[in-house]
Order: sequence, then C-alpha cells, then structure tokens
Amino acid sequence: MTTRTTNTPNTLNATNATNATHSDKAPHVLVIGAGYAGLMAALRLDPHARVTLVDPSDRFTERIRAHERAAGRPDVTHPLGGFLRSTGIRHVPSRATAIDLAARRVTTDDGQRLRYDRLVYALGSRTSAPVAGIGERAHTLEAAESLAKRLRDGPGSLAVVGGGLTGVELAAELAESHPDWSVRLHSDGDIGAGLSARGRDHVREVLTARGVRIHEGHRIARADDLEADEVVWTAAMAPNSELAAAAGLSLDASGRIAVDAVLRSVSHPEVYVAGDAAAAHSPKVGALRMACATAIPTGSHVATSLIAEFRGRQPRPLDFGFLVQCVSLGRHDGLVQFVRPDDSPRDRLLKGALAARVKERVVRSTVGTLRLAARWPWTVPLIPGMS
Ligand SMILES: Cc1cc2nc3c(=O)[nH]c(=O)nc-3n(C[C@H](O)[C@H](O)[C@H](O)COP(=O)(O)OP(=O)(O)OC[C@H]3O[C@@H](n4cnc5c(N)ncnc54)[C@H](O)[C@@H]3O)c2cc1C
Repeated sequence: MTTRTTNTPNTLNATNATNATHSDKAPHVLVIGAGYAGLMAALRLDPHARVTLVDPSDRFTERIRAHERAAGRPDVTHPLGGFLRSTGIRHVPSRATAIDLAARRVTTDDGQRLRYDRLVYALGSRTSAPVAGIGERAHTLEAAESLAKRLRDGPGSLAVVGGGLTGVELAAELAESHPDWSVRLHSDGDIGAGLSARGRDHVREVLTARGVRIHEGHRIARADDLEADEVVWTAAMAPNSELAAAAGLSLDASGRIAVDAVLRSVSHPEVYVAGDAAAAHSPKVGALRMACATAIPTGSHVATSLIAEFRGRQPRPLDFGFLVQCVSLGRHDGLVQFVRPDDSPRDRLLKGALAARVKERVVRSTVGTLRLAARWPWTVPLIPGMS
C-alpha cells in the first residue's frame, strides 16, 4: 500500500480512524457497493478522503458479462485487491444491513458499525422477477453460474422473458453457445424497442439465423405460464434501495433514491448516490436509465461533487449524454447503434463482426477505466463522457 497525503482542508470532522494512509483530519467516506459505480467513486475519492468500501465479495463482478457467464464463460470477476492495491482504500468484506442516518452509521451483517462523514450509496439493482415460478426451472442472471451448469447438463427448451437488450444479448449468446438447446425470446412489445428500425431488423435477422424463435406483443406474467424446460427472466430491473427506504431516504416513484443535480440525496445531503440505485437526471437525457454506461460516469461524478464539497466549492451538476448503444449478438456478431445524447436512435449503425469487436472493446474499457482510476484517478474526468 502506498502512502498518499491529502490536501483536503478540514471542512469535515473525521469520525472513524480507518485508513492509516490519510490524516485523521481527512473526511471519512463510506462507500457501500463495489460495482461499477461504487468502485469508481471510491477510487477517485481515495486521494482526497479516507475511504472505506463495503461489499461482501472480494471480487469485482463484470455484471455486463453475466450472459456470457450463463453461456459458459468460466469467470467474469476480478480480484478487488487488484484495483485497491495501490490505494489507501480499506475494503470491508461484509454486507450492509442498515443505515442510521441520524448517527451517520452503517451496520453490517457481521455486526460492524461503520461511522461516516459522507455516505456513497451504490448498491445497484437486480432482476425484478415475479416470485412465482422462480426456482428450480426458472432463473435470473444473478444466478448465471447455476444456469450455465444446467445448460451443460443436457439439451432442452429454454425461454428468455424480456425483449430488452439484456434478453436479446442472452438469447443470442445461448443460442450460439448451445445450438443443441431450443431457445425462444418473449417480449411484450417489439424486441430491442430503443433501437432504430434497421437496428431491430439486424437483431431479428441474427437471432432467427441462430434458431431463436421470437414471440412479440404478448405479456408473460409468470414463469409458470411458459412451457419450457428452463425459463430465464430478464424482463425488468429493480433498484437495491430497500436499505435506503428503511433508513428514511427519499425515493422517487420508480423506487430509486431521489437525488439532486450533483447526485446528493434530496432528503439527506450527507448521502450521495451513484449507479442503478440513483434516480439521476441530466439536462441532455432527463432520467438516466440503469446501465453500466451511466453507473461509471455517475460514480465518477459523485467523487467530483464530494471533492468540490471538501474544498468548500459548489459542486457542478451532472452533464451526461449518450453516444452509442452496443449490443452483443453472440461472440461473432453485434450491433453498435449510434444514438443522440438523449439516447434516441440515429440512423447510423455498425453491425456484424466489426460491431462485435467494438462491443468487446467497450466492455473491456469498463475495467480499463477502473484500472486507470486506481492508478491515476485525476485522469478519469478528462475522458469524454466522464465528469
Ligand atoms: C446480462 C447483462 C448485460 C448488461 N449489459 C449492459 C451493457 O452492455 N451496457 C450497459 O450500460 N449496461 C449493461 N447492463 C446493466 C449493468 O450491468 C448495470 O446497470 C450496472 O451493473 C449497474 O452498476 P452499479 O454499480 O450501479 O451496480 P452493480 O454492478 O449491480 O453493483 C452493485 C454492487 O453492490 C453490492 N451490494 C449489493 N448489496 C449490498 C449490500 N447490502 N452491502 C454491500 N454491498 C452490496 C454488490 O455485491 C455489487 O458489487 C447489463 C446487465 C446485465 C444483467
């Protein structure tokens, strides 16, 4: 561990001596959740604060490769230590179970009570699946490993529920990797609804060529309603905001934590929120959708806001806009859909092997950006799209 000194003025009182690498007078930031958003926030904050990162796993999961994991990719994780090695960040391998906003304290499942000056809430999201039917025969991508095992065990029929990009990517990946399985994709509307008509046509063409049967325009209420050996539910995501709600943080109508333009909780300004759990808005987009593409920039922006606050400056509002949507269609085909800053599709797209290579590069760049943040955190806001 290298020692970093901090230039942070003592505008906040430290409450918990954690990282030996920082002066006791440095503010203590507790980050809960070490996904794309939380890890980015922690890495960028490290030179400016004493940072504690709470996540039960000692590995960072590339969640955007969950469909690849289900298809048989052996591992989609990286040791958290690899990112934290050259930082002063302390990792607490526990699950946050409660937040006491008045005492500024988080309790963990192993009984620790961690005090903070500022809290970064980055617990992400999960598949929102109807409880009925999820069990032996029905899966979500949170259990990609057990799905992979089931697929290896022998051929059968598999239904993917959800025609969004996660369902599309999963159906294409499984059909390519397991041609002995019969795969179908169910969507209540058009598949790939946010894509251009040409983009959707390409997705349909590739899926059909891989033998995927597409059922559009019919809503599936429960996994039990489908005749298939296995069902994978990808239809909707829910924010992991239960802890926030129980603590008394304000949520928006969708259940995400309500934040202002600098990503600070509207009800408790000592709490910042990043990634899928945040109801973040930007002037170019409006409400940001749950995505890795928004989790990394909001994680970085939370750090920018906090650093400004530590320096006694006014934090800048988030100013995020989209550029592309990248979709994998198995390992050898894909779609790069150019979009306007508000995420609406343009006519321009790339498809085929070239798009598959671009998508792979983009996926690798997420881990690359986190590694960059670990070594040279100050460079991250210089990357286009980051702040
Ligand atoms: C198959 C698939 C493909 C996807 N592809 C794309 C894509 O191509 N592009 C894109 O932009 N998005 C994609 N997404 C969406 C993307 O993965 C999420 O939006 C993104 O992971 C959100 O990042 P996050 O940091 O907010 O949360 P997460 O990545 O979910 O991380 C949350 C972290 O919080 C931790 N945690 C949870 N509860 C607790 C607790 N109580 N205490 C402590 N820690 C806790 C978890 O262990 C995890 O490490 C995809 C998703 C899936 C499932």
